[in-house]
Formats: sequence, structure tokens, C-alpha cells
Amino acid sequence: MIQGRTVGFILKCVSFTLKYLTCQHVIENVCVRDFKQHGDLQKLLGEGSKAYDYDLIVIGGGSGGLACSKEAAALGKKVMVLDYVVPTPKGTTWGLGGTCVNVGCIPKKLMHQTALLGTAMEDARKFGWEFTDQVTHNWETMRTAVNNYIGSLNWGYRVSLRDKNVNYVNAYAEFVEPHKIKATNKRGKEMFYTAAKFVLATGERPRYLGIPGDKEYCITSDDLFSLPYCPGKTLVVGASYVALECGGFLAGLGLDVTVMVRSILLRGFDQDMANRAGDCMETHGVKFLRKFVPTKIEQLEAGTPGRLKVTAKSTESDAIFEGEYNTVLIAVGRDACTGKIGLDKAGVKVNAKNGKIPVNDEEQTSVPHIYAIGDILEGKWELTPVAIQAGKLLARRLFAGASLKCDYVNVPTTVFTPMEYGSCGYPEEKAVELYGQENLEIYHSLFWPLEFTVPGRDNNRCYAKIICNKLDNERVIGFHYLGPNAGEVTQGFGAAMKCGITKDQLDNTIGIHPTCAEIFTTMEVTKSSDGDITQSGC
Ligand code: FAD
Ligand code: NDP
Repeated sequence: MIQGRTVGFILKCVSFTLKYLTCQHVIENVCVRDFKQHGDLQKLLGEGSKAYDYDLIVIGGGSGGLACSKEAAALGKKVMVLDYVVPTPKGTTWGLGGTCVNVGCIPKKLMHQTALLGTAMEDARKFGWEFTDQVTHNWETMRTAVNNYIGSLNWGYRVSLRDKNVNYVNAYAEFVEPHKIKATNKRGKEMFYTAAKFVLATGERPRYLGIPGDKEYCITSDDLFSLPYCPGKTLVVGASYVALECGGFLAGLGLDVTVMVRSILLRGFDQDMANRAGDCMETHGVKFLRKFVPTKIEQLEAGTPGRLKVTAKSTESDAIFEGEYNTVLIAVGRDACTGKIGLDKAGVKVNAKNGKIPVNDEEQTSVPHIYAIGDILEGKWELTPVAIQAGKLLARRLFAGASLKCDYVNVPTTVFTPMEYGSCGYPEEKAVELYGQENLEIYHSLFWPLEFTVPGRDNNRCYAKIICNKLDNERVIGFHYLGPNAGEVTQGFGAAMKCGITKDQLDNTIGIHPTCAEIFTTMEVTKSSDGDITQSGC
């Protein structure tokens, strides 16, 4: 009896072991086949790298390129990053770190802050602060302070690349073969490097108008933040992120600013919000010249600043506009830096219309060993945190066997106009197009930040709106906020939307009082009800 049980037990064990081994065999075969198919086995084994100078070469040392190269090096790979800034037509150039640090987010936000401080000083008098001296703004002091800070960031990036064993080369890179690049430094010296894999992160540069006088006499955001003199009376051409942010802070410094708008404000954003942000800009002194495009820029007088004559034509009639400005800032979009990097020699497909690079959901281009991240990607957000996230996750997938991909959905963003506008998810127009008006419930409210009450400004100009999908438990699919500290407010709600927050859950969230963000926990009036949305009392 006992013997029989023992034999039975042994037989079960043998059968289980056989099944396990067979299973293992099948799993291994499937895995090996799949890995081979996707090239992942080679990825994990690092095959092929030995024949090359580097495991990875990253072209572009901006937000995406630096993040990717540092992550790859931290994973033990031999990495090179090349960064080179082609001077603007005005001769402006800058250090390591790309657009965001040198001519984008950082100087922009610091100059926006400068403008906000001007408004705060006016508010301060109403709160009892007394200062007798006339308050004026000194452009050169601001520019020097901002540029000194940027200098410290440039230095910090160099140090951190060295600490992480990334080989940084200050040279312009272009492909000469699919696995080989030529790097030309500022003295014209050429070097050649090879790598198993490449990441393209070359970003974008401001577009010009292609009209007489634009490159000779106008500046772009690439020149503005280090301009050695105060720009004076300024015409900003364009009406999106860059134009409205720059126009906004220049007006906040007390300058005479006009924004020339070709069609609408902030294309792609919720138009109700965009127009409210524009209205607030007008209240804060920005003039708008709508439905005009410039045709010619002439210099009336050289100087710092000089005097320029701008001729523009209406997009709707035969009307011609002529005006005089000290500075014309062109902010009509940005072109991907993909035209001169030898992509044809590497075989990488580019969208010929806009120079953008199409990639799959793993940021892989049409050439399997070449990847692309950041602003040069087709159809993706052009934002620093997006480029960083994509770069980091890509390095982990390439060199650590990770599988997490960059999620480009529900990316929160903020336009730093004088009254800031933060959003996440769909604009109202897009939500209606996708789900149908009847399937949406939109809650909204005007509000008056407590901080504005004593100074008595911008009463009920701030605005909050959420768009909820009735077909899905009133899940919030669009979040829109026009008010102070929009970036700080929107960031948290962005996280909540990633977790799929519903209107019920917002209602069950207890607000923090007295804040602006609390408005989202108490929204009752729906847009369809046409109810009163002005806020009175607290
Ligand atoms: P970049 O940061 O542009 O870096 C690309 C780098 O590659 C550059 O240094 C370039 O010189 C270099 N390069 C190009 N070609 C070569 C080559 N062949 N060889 C070597 N090097 C090369 N985003 C936000 O999230 N928040 C903001 O508030 C914000 N404000 C902005 C304000 C302005 C005025 C602008 C213009 C942009 C702003 N952005 C903002 C956008 C943000 O700056 C970009 O999304 C981000 O910098 C993109 O990173 P990237 O790595 O793709 O490219
Ligand atoms: P955009 O491409 O977003 O906008 C271009 C603007 O210029 C539009 O208003 C467009 O008008 C106008 N325009 C284009 N061509 C002409 C022309 N020939 N004459 C007159 N007007 C013209 O570019 P931006 O440079 O503003 O922004 C680039 C990217 O940088 C953004 O998408 C954003 O991702 C990023 N960025 C982010 C910021 C942030 O996070 N706060 C701040 C700044 C930039 P129309 O609508 O008629 O086409």
C-alpha cells in the first residue's frame, strides 16, 4: 500500500517534471523566436555593439537628447552626445542644453515672472506697501541675471554628462552611412564616429516669414532672451504659444506691444479658453491686429533698438496696414532640424511637407537602429517633459529590457500668458467632434482669486471648465483653467486624469480653501443649463 503510494507519487513527480520541461521548452522557443523577431535578444545581449565606437550616439543635447544619453550611460552603455548650435541670422548662439534651457521654457518663465512681479508691485500698494521711488524696469539687469542663471545650467549639464561618463562633443553631426556620422566642430575640424544605435533629438528652430527684410531686421525667440538692449515698441507676428507668451511678458514690462494675428489665437487649443486668455492680454495692455500678415519689413533707422517700418496686408480684404516699431519679433512656428543631418544617407524617412520624422510607438524610425525623440517627431507634443520622458524610457527599453512606452495621451500643458492657461485632455471642439454634444456634460465657472479682490482687478475673468463623458461615468476628458499659477494647478489634475478621474470623484474631493484650484471640487453649473457662472463670496 505504502509502496504503491510512493510509486504513484514518484510517477506524478516525473510527469509534472516532464510537463514543466516541455512547457519551459515551448516558452523558451516562443521567447527566443519573438526576441529574434523584434531584435530584442540582440538588444539584451548587446550584439553588434563591439564592432562600433559606441553603443549609442545621440544627436542633439537638448531636453530629450540629454535625458536619453544619461540614462543609457547609467545603464552601462558607451554613449556619445553631440550638440551644436547654429547661430541665428543675428549671430545669437548659446550653450549646452537645447531650446528649453537657453531660448525656451527657462528664460521665458523667468521673464514672465519679471512681468508678474510688476503687476504684484501695483497690487502691493493696495495692500498697504508704500514706495515713493518711481518704479521702472531695467532690461539689461533682467537679461544679465537670467543669462547668468542659464550659464550655470549649461555648466551643470556639462558636469553631469562627465559624471555619468557620457562623451559630449560640441560638433554638428550628420550621417554619412547608416551606422556612421561626421562631426564638424566650430573650427571646421571633421571627425567620424560609428555606433550600433542612434537617437535623433535635434529639435526645431524658429521659422522666418520669407518676406523682404525678415532675416535682416527681425528677431525671433532665439534672439529675444539675450537681446543686449530693451526691444522697445514691439510687433509680435504669430498667435500661438511663443507669440502670446513673449508678447505677454514684454507688455508686462511696460512696453508697447502689438500682436499680429493671421487667423485665430492658440490653434489647436480650446477656442473659448484661447479667446478668454486673449481678452485678459488686452486688459493687460497688449494690442491685437487681427487678420493681417506682414509683407515687408524696412529699416527706417539703425540702432539698439532701431526703427522699422512694417507693411502688412489683410487676409480678408484689400486693406493694407503700415506701422512703425522698434522691434519685430517673428513667432510663426518652428521647423524641425532634420534637413541637413544626412537622413537620406541613413535611409530614414521624413515627412517631406514639414520635415518631421514619423516613428512607431517605440520611437523607432523607418531604419530599425535609428530612433527619434522630442520636437522633431510627427504628430507629438512639442514640450520639454515629453522629450525627457520619451528619451529616458527609450534608453531603458533599448538597454535594460524594459517595455514601458512613452504615453503621449493626456499630457498637461500651460501657456504662460499674463493670465495663465493650463489644460489637459480634449479641447471642447475636439470632444464634441469625437463624442457628440449630447454625450458630453460640461461644467464651468468664472472665479475671482482672493488675491485679486483687494487690488480689485480681473473680477470674474478667471475661468474653469471640465468636459465630462456621459457615456463613461462622467469621466473627465478635458480640463481647462485660466487663472494664476496655472501650471501648478494643472499638474495635479493631470495626474488625476491619468488615473481616470470622474466628476463624482472630483465632487468627493475636499477643496483647499482659499485657493483657485478648489473651484474644480465645487462645480455645479453645466454649460447646457446656461446658468449663472459668476462667482460671488467665498
Ligand atoms: P531641443 O531642446 O531643441 O534640443 C535640440 C538640440 O540639438 C539643440 O541644442 C540643437 O542645437 C542641437 N542640434 C540640432 N541639430 C544638430 C546636429 N546636427 N548636431 C548636433 N546638435 C544638433 N516646453 C515646455 O514644456 N514648457 C515651456 O514652458 C516651454 N516654453 C518654450 C518657450 C519657447 C520660446 C520655445 C521656443 C519652446 C518652449 N518649449 C516649452 C518647448 C521646449 O523647449 C521643447 O519642446 C524642447 O526643448 C524639445 O526638446 P528636444 O530635445 O526635442 O530639442
Ligand atoms: P505654432 O506652430 O504653435 O504656432 C505658429 C503661429 O504662427 C500660429 O499662430 C500661426 O497662425 C502663425 N503663423 C504661421 N505662419 C504665419 C505667417 N506666415 N504669417 C503670420 N502668422 C503665421 O508655433 P509656436 O512657435 O508658437 O510654438 C511651437 C511649439 O513650441 C508649440 O507647439 C509648443 O509645443 C512649444 N512651446 C511650448 C510652450 C509652453 O509649454 N508653454 C511655450 C512655447 C512653445 P495660424 O493659426 O493662422 O496658422
